[in-house]
Amino acid sequence: MVMQKRRTCGECTACCTALPVGEISKPQGVPCRQCTKVGCSIYQMRPRSCRDFECQWLKGCGEDSQRPDLFGIINDYSLVDGLGYTVIFWEIAKGALDNLFGESTSIAAIEKSIPVLHVYHSRKERLFIPHTLGLSESELKTYANENRKVFIVSAAATN
Ligand code: SF4
Ligand code: SF4
Repeated sequence: MVMQKRRTCGECTACCTALPVGEISKPQGVPCRQCTKVGCSIYQMRPRSCRDFECQWLKGCGEDSQRPDLFGIINDYSLVDGLGYTVIFWEIAKGALDNLFGESTSIAAIEKSIPVLHVYHSRKERLFIPHTLGLSESELKTYANENRKVFIVSAAATN
């Protein structure tokens, strides 16, 4: 990915739909009731998690044309217990994660032994854990749930 200068959100409000906001009981994948055509109606009092969130595109990652609302994917990351730095792709537009961006960027992360979580428009999830992390079967099971399938992958197998 090409790193560029820091950006502004502009007309994008993708994270206001994709991400859950615990403070206001906003579920994942549901448009926030506070999100209006002119932005957040409680902007000055918005929850801490909203204030803190910055997607990777906003920080300068990727091309200008990959703004999440236009591209269909939010590029994010989180520190996950036992996995460490984990790349997260939130799918905004149905099918967006099936395109080459999702595949090639995920492979690039796996090659660096970085786990990748795909959160689909349907709210189903697929967590790809590099085999190089050496997790045991019992450890792997702790990351799976009814919405999330876990896969052990190797960079060689994805080429
Ligand atoms: S997804 Fe990124 S660019 Fe879009 S509103 Fe959220 S932080 Fe801004
Ligand atoms: S409270 Fe405001 S910033 Fe937070 S999700 Fe809702 S519209 Fe977006």
